[in-house]
Amino acid sequence: MKQETSKNLTECPRIEIAAYIDGELSPREEFDLEIHFAGCPTCAAELNDQKKLLCALDFALENEKEIELPENFTRIVVANAESNVQGLRCPRERNRALMVCAALFLLVFLGLGAETSKTFAAFGAVTDQLLAVGSFFVHLIHDITIAGAVIFRSFCLQFVFKSAVSAILLGICFIVSFLIFSRLMSRRSRF
Ligand SMILES: [Zn+2]
Repeated sequence: MKQETSKNLTECPRIEIAAYIDGELSPREEFDLEIHFAGCPTCAAELNDQKKLLCALDFALENEKEIELPENFTRIVVANAESNVQGLRCPRERNRALMVCAALFLLVFLGLGAETSKTFAAFGAVTDQLLAVGSFFVHLIHDITIAGAVIFRSFCLQFVFKSAVSAILLGICFIVSFLIFSRLMSRRSRF
């Protein structure tokens, strides 16, 4: 017993004092510590100091509670939150939100990993088809233009340079079509 007391005296359970005050120790540990306090003035003093500190803290916190919030505190908080949300109604904020959404969508799209390549392949196939249709129409228009030019040239060769009357007729046709064209253009530019 004497040996145990001397051992306890040399190894003071400083950390356990806080646990003792908080009531976190088992009854057996509490009992041991209380015995130690009885035989160790240093730890008894430490226990008193910690208790005093806790009392001071409790007092300070109780005083803190007496600081009342302003009466319109809730209203101010709600108003601030509402004004923050109202910002989203501005077009600029909406654009920014759209940009963020687009960036997120891109991230998700890229994050899909294996699925992305499939999606890109499908997208590429659709693009190819659209390009094929587009090039078909371009070729069609090109062919029609060439056919028209060929017909027009043969028409010119047959008539224009063979008879002066046809040349005059063709000139009138050209002037009329030019007038119609310019009128159409001016009408379109007016709209
Ligand atoms: Zn001690």
